[in-house]
Amino acid sequence: MNDKLETILSNIPSPAYIIDKNILEHNLQILKTLQDDTGCRVLLAQKAFSCYPLYSWMGDFLYGTAASGLYEAKLGSEEMRKESHVFSAAFREDEIDEMMTYSDHFIFNSLNQLKKYGPKLKDNNKNVGIRVNPMYSTQKDHEIYDPCAVGSRLGVTKKIWDRDVDRSVINLLDGIHFHTLCEQDADDLEVTLNSVEEQFADLLALPNIKWINFGGGHHITRNGYKINILKKCIKYIQDKYNLIVYIEPGEAVALNAGYFVSRVLDIVENEIQIAVLDASAACHMPDVLEMPYTPPVYGAKKPDVLNYNYRLGGPTCLSGDIIGDYSFNKRLAENDLIIFEDMAIYTMVKNNTFNGIKLPSIYLMDEDKCSLIQNFGYDDFKCRLG
Ligand SMILES: *Cc1c(COP(=O)(O)O)cnc(C)c1O
Repeated sequence: MNDKLETILSNIPSPAYIIDKNILEHNLQILKTLQDDTGCRVLLAQKAFSCYPLYSWMGDFLYGTAASGLYEAKLGSEEMRKESHVFSAAFREDEIDEMMTYSDHFIFNSLNQLKKYGPKLKDNNKNVGIRVNPMYSTQKDHEIYDPCAVGSRLGVTKKIWDRDVDRSVINLLDGIHFHTLCEQDADDLEVTLNSVEEQFADLLALPNIKWINFGGGHHITRNGYKINILKKCIKYIQDKYNLIVYIEPGEAVALNAGYFVSRVLDIVENEIQIAVLDASAACHMPDVLEMPYTPPVYGAKKPDVLNYNYRLGGPTCLSGDIIGDYSFNKRLAENDLIIFEDMAIYTMVKNNTFNGIKLPSIYLMDEDKCSLIQNFGYDDFKCRLG
């Protein structure tokens, strides 16, 4: 962010998400280069970022989309028109037929579902995979994002695999999937891959297994990410098992590629100074509360670094609708612009109209020009309630 960008954003009505196409392109180019250098295939995990008006352009850089169910599968296949992979914690019987019209790769979360749907999918020439869970945890900060946490429902563990597997299901498989990372570097992938290999080497080596998907959570586009280790992991699996390697990052695709523009509605005081914004943590950036984390604000620093401390809070009635504590170099006043950074991911896909709060508009910034992609109003609130 810089002052010029601030001037551009100061003309946007708030609340609004602004997608920065230049930064998105920078990220996409890194991912495309990874594909070109290694022969791996990169899918967009739509869960993090689903701005479909850009899908057709993004498809020039990526191999396809990854979905978590029917609607994402449909969106990815209709808007990007490239490979469409779907993993679901549990597929629904009444959706499988329609999904087959959108997706080419189906990844199951259990041997039971693989047995139930696998034969039909194979009859329809679909690729079938199983998600395994190495139960090898490499993160401790965010337990709700750790699929290897005790009692996890995501992926078949080695213990259950050995107990329940039989030849008929093994023969259905074309690929293996694991997803255990969240905002992590490639050394965590490396040790995870070792663990997967240690437990599931027999499976990797089967002649019918053609691909492996390393999931998401790779922070590839972050400065300093150890991309050479990622490349080494990809090459190792390609060479040793002759498999196609997929990865399906969400965050890394749109990391830092968006801003969230809000304004100060009022300043209230209760031992501390609190700015009430037209932006809500609960409605517009729920990860702030779920993860939790404090998002970067342009021009602001941690409390006590600059002269004026403020807590930033949302306009809802929820006491906990607090975005975070910051310090600024000047007193805040009504209508002041507050710009949150790194707001393209896990925001638009997660927002809601709790408390009747307006959904932020969505803008696209291309070079220095901002254009409105979508605006929302009262009907978007009302239509889901009756
Ligand atoms: C969430 C998720 C992703 C994307 O994760 P990021 O952290 O956004 O890269 C990929 N695959 C699966 C199965 C997921 O659940």
